[in-house]
Amino acid sequence: MTAHAISIHAHFYQPPREDPLTGKIPTEGGAVPFTNWNERIHSECYRPNAELGNFERISFNIGPTLHNWMEGYDPETCRKIVEQDQVNVQRFGVGNAVAQAYNHTILPLSSYQDKVTQVYWGIADFTHRFGRRPQGMWLPETAVDIDTLSVLSTQGIQFTILAPWQADGGDIDPTEPYIVSLPDRQQITVFFYQRELSTLVSFDASATINADIFAEYILQPYYNQQKSGRGEAQLLLIASDGELYGHHKSQRERFLKRLLDGASDRLDLMPTYPAAWLKGHPARRSVEIRENTSWSCHHGVMRWMGQCGCTSGDGNWKAQLRYALVHLANELDRLYMDATRPLVADPWTLRDRYVHVLLGEISLDRLLSESAGPTLTSDQAHRLHLLLEAQRERQRMFTSCGWFFEDFDRIEPRNNVAYAAQAVRLTRLATGVDLEPVTASNLSRVASFRTGFHADTVFQAHLRKAEGVRSVKVGYAD
Ligand SMILES: [Zn+2]
Repeated sequence: MTAHAISIHAHFYQPPREDPLTGKIPTEGGAVPFTNWNERIHSECYRPNAELGNFERISFNIGPTLHNWMEGYDPETCRKIVEQDQVNVQRFGVGNAVAQAYNHTILPLSSYQDKVTQVYWGIADFTHRFGRRPQGMWLPETAVDIDTLSVLSTQGIQFTILAPWQADGGDIDPTEPYIVSLPDRQQITVFFYQRELSTLVSFDASATINADIFAEYILQPYYNQQKSGRGEAQLLLIASDGELYGHHKSQRERFLKRLLDGASDRLDLMPTYPAAWLKGHPARRSVEIRENTSWSCHHGVMRWMGQCGCTSGDGNWKAQLRYALVHLANELDRLYMDATRPLVADPWTLRDRYVHVLLGEISLDRLLSESAGPTLTSDQAHRLHLLLEAQRERQRMFTSCGWFFEDFDRIEPRNNVAYAAQAVRLTRLATGVDLEPVTASNLSRVASFRTGFHADTVFQAHLRKAEGVRSVKVGYAD
């Protein structure tokens, strides 16, 4: 068996673009000749990579909200992707796809209960689409803390992938996985990606023009020479956004194909993926992680909560937006608990299991009768349904993309505010309690430094628009 292994992890994900009232993506002018960016990126990246068989050779995750969109838009490509994972399951007993926490939420900034829900929903979505339980999970922005890792471990996840600077002390050998010890005698395995190679692949287009040159002259020197001398097996893992391969950089889907099916053979490099690697090479060494760190902010997780050097501007809007939405989330949870506790034994389990309704695996009636018994009136059932939908929007309003860029006046933060408005509306319908005034007041402090555009304007415009819509949309079911 070859001593040098290579794994390319691709994180496939797009921010949710759907209008919460219609469930549809509005036309996006910049995406011409396509109607919206999802369609364009699909045509440039997801479909060609599936057609080339690349999903069989890489390690990858697909964000659940993106995967759901793709299933509706191009089920044939989804089928190819799942089949390519299955080829590995048949051959090696473990697949190469990994799950992702559901809404691309920065989990260290989430409540404990939200961590549990995001991981549960992510596992359920993966299991539904891939027909098997996941062994690994990609953390959005690789943002990590001990609680998050404990939730992963508790829910049966065996490994995740982090940036090397997320190891405490930073003195790790990225050619092997590590064990992170967790409270209550739990543990999880962490693969650290190779920093320089991942940076080159992501940001230096000249590095990925020719896969044979890349493999021989750029990749190979990064193997640990001492290990090579001893003939010891080692793995280089490169992690990047999946959209790089064909969308951000054209033709790079062909680079990927050649790298893992040709260039690597020539140099006796073995393409692999974390679950397969662990079968023969379980982690031997331990490491502690630096909590509240991530892969795309070098200031911890500040990028998603305030000012840091990653984006220009004063970042005050980010702090205010997070404050407003955390405040709203607390109020929504209080009303959810007040309304559900008299009816169901465990409101949080009900919220977790609601994903099975969203996935069409069980009916809402069945979920509610399992949770509350057969005595619910139709009015009570209707109100529970509205509250569960409010919780779905409440999860979605924390999508990390809302804080990623420099300014508020963009589709991603505006969408988060629209999802917040929808949660307020549904909760008002269910309970009669109106969270609009306090939320609008908090959101009035969120403003674009470029255009002066305010978040409460988006919020209230969405609520007024919603008043004209009579039906209440239910998850993916319609
Ligand atoms: Zn930063």
